[in-house]
Amino acid sequence: MTNTLFEQAKPLLEQLEDHGYQAYYVGGCVRDYLMDRTIHDIDITTSATPDEVETLFDKTIPVGKEHGTINVVYHGENYEITTFRAEAEYTDHRRPSEVYFVRELYEDVKRRDFTMNALAMDTDYQLHDYFNGREDIHHKLIRTVGEAQERFDEDALRILRGLRFQAQLGFDIEQATYTAMEENCSSLEYLSVERVVVELRKLLSGDETPRGYRNMVDMQAFDYLPYFKSYDMNKMQVVEPLSFTTFLAILNVQQPLEMPLAHLKISNDEKKEVTKLVAMIQALPTITTKKQLRTYIYDYGSKEAKMWFQLQKSLSSNDIATASPLIFNMQTIEEIAQQLPIRQRNELAVTGKDLMSHTGLKGGKWVKYALRALELAVVNEQVINQQKALLEWMDQHVEIQ
Ligand code: ATP
Ligand code: MG
Repeated sequence: MTNTLFEQAKPLLEQLEDHGYQAYYVGGCVRDYLMDRTIHDIDITTSATPDEVETLFDKTIPVGKEHGTINVVYHGENYEITTFRAEAEYTDHRRPSEVYFVRELYEDVKRRDFTMNALAMDTDYQLHDYFNGREDIHHKLIRTVGEAQERFDEDALRILRGLRFQAQLGFDIEQATYTAMEENCSSLEYLSVERVVVELRKLLSGDETPRGYRNMVDMQAFDYLPYFKSYDMNKMQVVEPLSFTTFLAILNVQQPLEMPLAHLKISNDEKKEVTKLVAMIQALPTITTKKQLRTYIYDYGSKEAKMWFQLQKSLSSNDIATASPLIFNMQTIEEIAQQLPIRQRNELAVTGKDLMSHTGLKGGKWVKYALRALELAVVNEQVINQQKALLEWMDQHVEIQ
């Protein structure tokens, strides 16, 4: 059966073939096609060298030219065309000391990590399957190309890739592959934290995340990863897919070690998100009335509140206290979210300046305090959001010192 994405990329392969080169679809796109999964991007492998690829296409970007990859822009889409490549020995458990370009497909697929990822397919949808990848896909098995021990020793990232493919695809890990993964875990410490985090994000968001995560814990992989090695990951249960920030937040509520998130080199936005999520989890058990839920939703947002409602299994399996379902349930959250008179402070009908000119006092901590009291009063419908009413309410209820 043809596939639109392959058909769209076909003229690129034909262009290479018309000039005497071999060209194939390769890697994840072929695997996903055989599994009837959504294909994300088409990768092309060819016997043409990067220089030769550049001469054959109008719009090219030399993204990873020294490693053999040229990006070709075609009908507005970006395609990675990579020259058949073999690798010299690995000396640091994470990258080959040298790569060189070759003219045989076999050499190229031999260096790839798993049999399911070492499949190439031509424009007639004929598979070039040197390592029984199709059979392994059929049996739902993750198996290294070649000797497992050697392949994980070369590049420890493959251990995490194996686990995240398990989490995404729900495959079993073939026995020798699993044993070699376990035995090479200590090499994970050579990897850059950025590459580790990329794989972890994917592992945590798979349909079969609990399985991949359990195996990762069982092989004690976290002991060799920055940041996580400080935690007892055996205690941290993952029972459903989680975003990376949610995962970190649950972990830190369960084990409040205050390890700097900077060790993970994530963005400042994500760091802030984790801090917010930690506060949200910690505040859950304090919600015992509708009024408290209203404040909670105002402070953190209804989307986030709903998220924690849906993730209650993740909280309880990690022995984290949550809110009573009598108050904290989808219907009440929804209801409150729709009724909130204001959604954020700047919707308040007074500003700090208004408070200062009304009282004739200079700015200070009291302004922040008064604004907070006012916004809560509005949220809880004790006063309407109108300037005169707010100032009167402040005079009566807010003690200013
Ligand atoms: P995804 O669907 O997540 O993109 P993928 O299999 O396409 O999965 P990529 O990281 O995009 O994974 O890599 C493309 C291909 O490159 C893989 O299918 C595999 O053949 C090869 N590959 C990637 N990383 C490695 C590695 N560390 N060692 C050996 N081969 C690798
Ligand atoms: Mg890919």
